[in-house]
Amino acid sequence: MRNRRAALAAMATAASLALTLSACGQNSEGGSKEKSGDTKGATIGIAMPTKSSERWIADGNNVVKQLKAKGYKTKLVYGEDDPDTQVSQIENLITQGVKGLIIAAIDNKSLNNVLQEAADANIPVIAYDRLILGTKNVDYYATFDNEKVGKLQATSLVDKLGLTNGKKGPFNIELFAGSNDDNNTKYFFNGAMSVLQPYIDKKQLVVKSGQTKMNQVTTLRWDGATAQKRMDDILTSTYSSARVDAVLSPYDGISIGIISALKSDGYGSTSKPLPVVSGQDAEVASVKSILAGEQYSTVYKDTRQLATEAVTMVDDVLNKRKPETNDNKTYDNGVKVVPSYLLQPVAVTKDNVQKELVDTGYYTKADLGLK
Ligand code: BGC
Repeated sequence: MRNRRAALAAMATAASLALTLSACGQNSEGGSKEKSGDTKGATIGIAMPTKSSERWIADGNNVVKQLKAKGYKTKLVYGEDDPDTQVSQIENLITQGVKGLIIAAIDNKSLNNVLQEAADANIPVIAYDRLILGTKNVDYYATFDNEKVGKLQATSLVDKLGLTNGKKGPFNIELFAGSNDDNNTKYFFNGAMSVLQPYIDKKQLVVKSGQTKMNQVTTLRWDGATAQKRMDDILTSTYSSARVDAVLSPYDGISIGIISALKSDGYGSTSKPLPVVSGQDAEVASVKSILAGEQYSTVYKDTRQLATEAVTMVDDVLNKRKPETNDNKTYDNGVKVVPSYLLQPVAVTKDNVQKELVDTGYYTKADLGLK
């Protein structure tokens, strides 16, 4: 990164030259007048968090495909769930002269300095799925209704337990939340608790471990093995004689860890059935687990639609159009309310896998091992 300052200075000069040229109706490569001016053929940098989860691979591919369809070039990087890696990847993208950035943050507070560099180079930033906190240098936010995701997860649990149909319980439930450095985590958890808390208050749901506060139940970097270990510990400390009836899980990869711990403890037989377990992202392994009657539910978020939102936003900003937003109050990042577009998540159980995941073309039957 030794020459970064020099490179940035050169870029700033190039950017102002590009502005001057485009003011004359030409793009920076000296091309002729186009409506989209200097954005034609521009490169957009896309920073995704990890390849360890299928959904982010799909996100990256969808964003690239849709940007290319609009005539952009792309540079896609994955940060291996390491915040420092992501910061240096974004610095590299800036140095390489990208004209826009689409970022799904690993640590929502680690990007302030690098986003100042982006702002200094006039590069608009779209926060992708995860809000970036503590900086004015984030222009728009494309995501799903995150609170609703949590509500759908919890609703699937209370429905399956029969609580919404008059069963009284009490049922034992354990709670898991996502990574504490992901801004979505609190929306998912609070959304879920808005459904669960009334039953907890009436003692129809009991959290036997006593771990009910978000900071007691988070899972750093959404890691399945970390969740598996916590579930193991809870089973050992709290459930030597009692049974777990439900587990709130915020993400499919965490659900897999939880279910492994449960199976190691003897759950999964007719005499000791698995508890009802939620999830998120409709990843293939978890949809198969749902079809096999293990995980109960997931929340499907169509990454194709999310890519469309983010790509439209960056294209609009670069072409001086105002992107469409549908929520301009919820997502305060500590410095500003970031104008957002929220898509709708969908709860999926065995009953609607075909309708939501196959008929929509998200997966083929073969992907899910269906005939
Ligand atoms: C996303 C979820 C995902 C989680 C773990 C969150 O920011 O919104 O869809 O399950 O990260 O990757």
